[in-house]
Amino acid sequence: METYHNNILYNKFFIFVSIAIVSMQIVSVLNLYQKFYINNDFIDYLCMIVSIFFAYIAADFMSGAVHMYMDNNTNYKSIAGPFIAAFHMHHRNMKYKTRHPLMIYVIESGSKFWLVVYLGMVIFLQYQLSLVVFINIFLVAFGVFSSFAEVSHYWCHNAHNKNSIIKKLQKFKILLPKKHHLIHHTQDNVNYAFLNGVTDPILNILAKKFYKGYKNSSDRHAANYKGPQTNNR
Ligand SMILES: [Zn+2]
Ligand SMILES: [Zn+2]
Repeated sequence: METYHNNILYNKFFIFVSIAIVSMQIVSVLNLYQKFYINNDFIDYLCMIVSIFFAYIAADFMSGAVHMYMDNNTNYKSIAGPFIAAFHMHHRNMKYKTRHPLMIYVIESGSKFWLVVYLGMVIFLQYQLSLVVFINIFLVAFGVFSSFAEVSHYWCHNAHNKNSIIKKLQKFKILLPKKHHLIHHTQDNVNYAFLNGVTDPILNILAKKFYKGYKNSSDRHAANYKGPQTNNR
């Protein structure tokens, strides 16, 4: 964590990844728009809604799977060590610095290195293959929801109690419900999902089978760190 906080290169790398991710998301959306609106390809709206729905569920699962892997990763001595340590800061200090949701979307995307590879593949496929509409919308929406999961998680910790729209969306599991996610912080090795938590029952089974949990490993490492009390970049 000390290396992460003191080494400007590690800090700047997150910004570089954020910009790369948002730019690639914009390109993938524009490619989709061009294919189905400007080229006037046939689009079935029911098919579109089903694609978006499945992408929302899949992105919830992926956010939880990556979170599970990172919370249980204590490979601090590797070259990625400072990034791993920085990821664990959230368990030490849950509250985020208050920012506009759009800023959270951009900034927090910076920790999603896997998303750079994913979006690169989606754009490549969009140019190289004639993707059917169902697949194309699914792939693009999955990329966007994977970043939006960070905003959903942010609202879980920072949303004001008076924000009735967010509260309602959390209640109906469209956004990550506060009570549901807080179990991740109070108990061990549970509720890793970030977007809406609907895939947590599956993730919890996988966590039990493959991991020991974070309370006696990464949480201790984070608690021992005496540096700045922040998980924001
Ligand atoms: Zn966690
Ligand atoms: Zn949290």
